[in-house]
Amino acid sequence: MKVGAQWRNSASGEWIDSENPYTGEVWARIPRGTTADVTDAVEAADEAGRGEWGSLTATQRGRLLYRLAQLIREKGGRLAELEITDIGRRRREALGVVDHLAGYFEYYAGLADKVEGSVSPFDKPGFFHYTRYEPMGVVACIVPWNGPLLLTTTKIAPALAAGCAVVIKPSEFASTSVLHLVELADEAGFPPGVINVVTGYGSEIGDALTSHPLVRKVAFTGGHVGGHAVARSAATGFKHVTLELGGKAPNIVFADADLDAALAGVSMGIFNTSGQACLAGSRLLVERSIADEFVAKLADQMRDARLGDPADMDTDIGPIATRPQFTSVLERIDAAKREGATPVLGGNRVAPTGGENGLFVEPTIFTNVTNDMRIAREEVFGPVLVAIPFDTDDEAVAIANDTDFGLTAGLWTSSLDRALNLPPRLAAGTVWVNTYRTVSVMAPFGGFKNSGIGRENGVDAIKDYLEPKSIIIRPGASVA
Ligand code: NAD
Repeated sequence: MKVGAQWRNSASGEWIDSENPYTGEVWARIPRGTTADVTDAVEAADEAGRGEWGSLTATQRGRLLYRLAQLIREKGGRLAELEITDIGRRRREALGVVDHLAGYFEYYAGLADKVEGSVSPFDKPGFFHYTRYEPMGVVACIVPWNGPLLLTTTKIAPALAAGCAVVIKPSEFASTSVLHLVELADEAGFPPGVINVVTGYGSEIGDALTSHPLVRKVAFTGGHVGGHAVARSAATGFKHVTLELGGKAPNIVFADADLDAALAGVSMGIFNTSGQACLAGSRLLVERSIADEFVAKLADQMRDARLGDPADMDTDIGPIATRPQFTSVLERIDAAKREGATPVLGGNRVAPTGGENGLFVEPTIFTNVTNDMRIAREEVFGPVLVAIPFDTDDEAVAIANDTDFGLTAGLWTSSLDRALNLPPRLAAGTVWVNTYRTVSVMAPFGGFKNSGIGRENGVDAIKDYLEPKSIIIRPGASVA
């Protein structure tokens, strides 16, 4: 872990084993952080904010972010390798993520010195009022295992651009790539204490981090259990909070759509990253007149998918990233079968050649599903799609919105009318029309309902790390 200027082991001297989900073998161990480590890291971040970091200009902060982006472009291969080994991310995806990261840091590097205050007309004669934006202070960045690099970057890039110092808490299952990103940040020249990482179990150190009085903002991505704990802790300390939580996205296909494009979009929407994405399009809502044929074609396509080594460029489906998640996906598949859903594709554990001890689940499609079944309501976070037919636009919207989540939704249609009129009716933070998973640093991302609070990405995200301060001056007044 990294605390202040020091790379160090945990105060307890204990370690957590990290499993390679393709081989099933322990390949790394990471320090099992303690509350003492958290306290040290938060204090180091606070000190950095009051010291050298706090005295840099916004332009100088931007230059450091550009330098980090440049190093990611030059040396990002190692970052990709670490995600391939640690969480079984497919090479094709890992390389795309690394490229995205660099663009992310560049975007916020450019924004760092473009945050401007304002002068108001003020409604009292003789007074002068202006508003300036100040860094919030220490930010806790809590990251899940399914996107360690990207979901660290979505937090630290705007936080650092705003002038905050950060304490990162990566997932206990996926810390190695984040640790290497921080090594690159060291090389870029960020002053000591600006970027700290404490590894360890959320259940052991999460509360110490989110409840620390010097932490002024918590940026969290994860599941709703952790999200609730963070929200409670943040409420107690009146901290700012951003919560990016889970999803159960509808991907709605109308008969008038370009069906080849829809097939590709639906399959990529759920099966990329083996379904382990908050934005996975895990509910296919398909117009009844084409439902049987569409599902049959999708199943046929996926039958040929190559499961195997995530390091291989040709692999279509990699392993499930962690053993608990693997168990959880299989349990939900079993529950769906018990509830009467029919697996028209997959539905089992599988052992591809070379990955016999790996955590593989077949790409799975269920039909005979109603939207009240567990498999249609709970986030599976695995390569599992449910197909539900609908007859009318109103019915499609009703089923789409009948969920506790509201992160993303997809729509496939050639009708301009539908493309314009349906997205406003869908309760989701992002709606894609004739595309899916198209994300950008420029497009705000976050959820409605149980999918979270606040947005990451975009120009406004930097303001989530800044406090507006009103300064009101009465020139010429004598101060008694
Ligand atoms: P998780 O909630 O178990 O863990 C996320 C992080 O929170 C980990 O670092 C964990 O150690 C930490 N944590 C756990 N309990 C905590 C506590 N009480 N206080 C502070 N920190 C705590 O989630 P996960 O299983 O790692 O990730 C999967 C979940 O993340 C899924 O639900 C997925 O949908 C969600 N996710 C959401 C987005 C988004 O942008 N909306 C993106 C990716 C993943």
